[in-house]
Amino acid sequence: MAAIIDKDACIGCGACEGGCPVGALSMDDEGKSSCDADACIGCGACEGTCPVGAITIE
Ligand code: SF4
Ligand code: SF4
Repeated sequence: MAAIIDKDACIGCGACEGGCPVGALSMDDEGKSSCDADACIGCGACEGTCPVGAITIE
């Protein structure tokens, strides 16, 4: 399980980044959220934080 970011939907607000308990989210060079799939534990916290529904857990 890992967070999948829809880069086209992401508006780069950064809300998800601070809520990740393991620090798996960071902003990429284009200012979009990026998930480190190796670090992500699939908790789903970020999914509910995103205001535009750009995150799904798969
Ligand atoms: S699912 Fe949980 S561990 Fe994975 S990126 Fe989102 S908040 Fe972090
Ligand atoms: S909360 Fe959603 S819109 Fe904001 S940076 Fe994260 S993925 Fe992008």
